[in-house]
Amino acid sequence: MAEMPGHARVVIIGGGVVGVSALYHLARAGWTDCVLLEKNELTAGSTWHAAGNVPTFSTSWSIMNMQRYSTELYRGLGDAVDYPLNYHVTGSIRLAHSDERMQEFARARGMGLHQGMNLEILSPDEIKAKYPFIETHDLKGALYDPADGDIDPAQLTQALAKGARDMGATILRFCPATGVSREGDEWIVHTEKGDIRCEIVVNAAGYYAQRVGEWFKPYGGRTVPMMVMAHQYLIFDEVPEVRDWSAQAGHKLPLLRDVDVSYYLRQEKTGFNLGPYERPCQAHWADPSDPMPEDFSFQLYPDALDRLSVQIESAMERVPVLAEAGLAKVINGPIPYAPDGNPLIGPMPGVPNAFEACVFTFGIAQGGGAGKVLAEWITEGATEWDMWSCDPRRFTDYTDHDYCVQKGMEVYGHEYAMHFPWHRWPAAPDRKVSPVHDRVKALGGQMGAYAGWERANWFAHPGDDTSEAATHTWNRTGPWEARIREECEAVRDSVGVLDLPGFSRFRLTGAGAADWLLGKIAGGLPKPGRLTLAYFPDARGRIVTEMSVACHGEDDFTLITAATAQWHDYEWLARDLGPGLSLVDRSREASTLIVTGPEARALMEAVGTEADLQLPWLSHQKGVVAGRDCWLARVSFAGELGWEVHAENDAIPVIYDAILKHHAKPFGMWALNSLRIEKGYRAWKGDLSTDYSLLQGGLERFIRFDKPQDFPGKQALLAEKQAGVAKRFVTLTVDAGAADAPYMSTIWHDGTVVGETTSGAWGYRCGKSIALAMLRADLHAPGTELEIDIYGDRRACIVQPDAPLWDPSNARLRA
Ligand SMILES: Cc1cc2nc3c(=O)[nH]c(=O)nc-3n(C[C@H](O)[C@H](O)[C@H](O)COP(=O)(O)OP(=O)(O)OC[C@H]3O[C@@H](n4cnc5c(N)ncnc54)[C@H](O)[C@@H]3O)c2cc1C
Repeated sequence: MAEMPGHARVVIIGGGVVGVSALYHLARAGWTDCVLLEKNELTAGSTWHAAGNVPTFSTSWSIMNMQRYSTELYRGLGDAVDYPLNYHVTGSIRLAHSDERMQEFARARGMGLHQGMNLEILSPDEIKAKYPFIETHDLKGALYDPADGDIDPAQLTQALAKGARDMGATILRFCPATGVSREGDEWIVHTEKGDIRCEIVVNAAGYYAQRVGEWFKPYGGRTVPMMVMAHQYLIFDEVPEVRDWSAQAGHKLPLLRDVDVSYYLRQEKTGFNLGPYERPCQAHWADPSDPMPEDFSFQLYPDALDRLSVQIESAMERVPVLAEAGLAKVINGPIPYAPDGNPLIGPMPGVPNAFEACVFTFGIAQGGGAGKVLAEWITEGATEWDMWSCDPRRFTDYTDHDYCVQKGMEVYGHEYAMHFPWHRWPAAPDRKVSPVHDRVKALGGQMGAYAGWERANWFAHPGDDTSEAATHTWNRTGPWEARIREECEAVRDSVGVLDLPGFSRFRLTGAGAADWLLGKIAGGLPKPGRLTLAYFPDARGRIVTEMSVACHGEDDFTLITAATAQWHDYEWLARDLGPGLSLVDRSREASTLIVTGPEARALMEAVGTEADLQLPWLSHQKGVVAGRDCWLARVSFAGELGWEVHAENDAIPVIYDAILKHHAKPFGMWALNSLRIEKGYRAWKGDLSTDYSLLQGGLERFIRFDKPQDFPGKQALLAEKQAGVAKRFVTLTVDAGAADAPYMSTIWHDGTVVGETTSGAWGYRCGKSIALAMLRADLHAPGTELEIDIYGDRRACIVQPDAPLWDPSNARLRA
């Protein structure tokens, strides 16, 4: 038994696969003075009863990266740490019942190829050749993932533990953490066996993460956004045909995932393991009548087969030999869910030197990659891959218990669903609403949630099909298309208004604020009364975030950023705020209306604006609109003459009504997306992410290498400039078919992948399909002809000059 140390650099709370993988990766990075606390035996939480499937498939680039890394790690792990491991790489066949599903597979295949994996599309005959027991008559095809397989989760955890211990890390079993406190810069983790002082704490407590998270509330923490579902799989006895086939083939059958029916079926020894994601499904420990026990180590819920009849019957029709097998065992265990189904990996919001690696629904598949990501966060302060999809700060203050339960149930019940770009998942709406929410809906607003804020995506006319079913398409065409066109044309030809609640606003003041800010951003600062875009690089010169900076006077700034970036960007600014500086989050105090189009000035005059409407583009001023105080910023993300009207919440209805009375056309987020892509304006965490440097992102005009202040990443950017960038941001026009390019479509040249899209849309002003992309640098010359893979459809595309497609001289903005 390991000794209880009084001090460690890092203490990890929780000894499931994820906590142990984090310990292993910390030790591999040379951080061996780390302790893991497990209240019971290792794997006592969700890990011991997991089925152990290790897919690579994902339609998220970062999750695919993490899962791919896990498969690579697990292949060599047994030998690396000298611990025998049962890891069967069987491949998997993911079945498609519809053309849309085949399109989803084609996109994932492209992403996989780009990550060096060889995912294959199979025809029904090819499925049958790999899986002779299957009925294929109603299938369109399948995706074959040769790297998919299954691993023994307990062995995996023990192997990682052995590797970590061998490198010098400490694991304390049967040692529950009971709380934390803080003294100076040190954490004190309390356990039943004594205290450990440390620099950094990690919450890896699996489905107990919310309880552990409560301890951090006195230090700035929040309730961990999560809930717990019951998840089952069924083990079936031997099937002689499968036994014989397997003996002859010398390997197991590939795993089947019938994603449209929502189950997987895996060969388990000579029988089967059937794992459904059923609907309706069952939340646990979600209300006071069903309290979470203090300890649930190595326990299960009672079987609940009645919920699974659809999947069981369907699996028996799909693979008829399954019907011959006797049911041997049912496993029904707790599985935690965050509201979007992705885990929480990264800095604990609001709390210094604390991290999270918890709420995993696919912790066996993601554990390897998650350990790497968490160790990078701790040892380097940044991750190799942009990991926003898993960053705990992606959820802000709207994720109350009811929201988490509703969303968790929705995600579980649609675990394998396709995520169409036009579809809104309906559970738990209206978490944060604008002061004119009801008016927007009355105007036909079809809402979407942006970090909890309800905004109109488009405005339907009476009679338009606004059903959920209509949105089940990757294609541009749908009831929204004509409306987006009308909205874009109104912005182009007259004037539109967009209700945009939720902008994040931070006020930075204090002597030395300008100097401090210049040490954070790559470029310069605006003069009083002016605005600029500022880019914040990390130490490697990569794009951490973009904010609009407005200067009010000497050392007095407002920084505006996306709704979703609120906690992330606030922390980025606050974490080493200079002495005497004040940073105040004013996001909730005001809301914003975007008024834009060539007639915007006339409209502002007509509604009664007391402000200088001749002040130029990129200026700002206080003013009065429709009799209410506001702050006007002369910018337009749509790329037309226009203003952002920022006003206190109670002033917004008056101003909105006045603007509508003067015939501004309400437009939505989907029109705005099209308009901004025509201008080449980047969106955060699509076009702008830590996957790219500022130079790769084409942002050199926002860098001032010659300013006196040093800034993060300056040396890295200078070195990159000298060496030449490997890839470059470009705008492409695409000879698109029915669909425009989604994020992470692959770009092809001479039979190889040479880049990826970061966003795409139809541009209604330009009359073209447009993609913003990252391309191998030698191919960036305007006019270069390439191909782009849009859901499996290879389309011609052309590199455009490095200027906006719409209004390249910005004459309309300056009007
Ligand atoms: C039926 C079922 C099948 C599944 N199949 C798969 C699959 O095929 N593939 C896949 O990828 N995922 C699968 N999962 C999900 C997978 O089990 C989890 O995602 C994974 O085990 C999570 O690992 P973890 O380390 O985050 O959490 P856990 O394994 O729950 O570990 C958390 C640990 O923290 C400990 N702990 C809690 N509080 C404290 C404290 N105060 N002090 C000290 N220790 C504490 C607990 O005892 C526990 O050991 C399945 C889940 C279920 C229920």
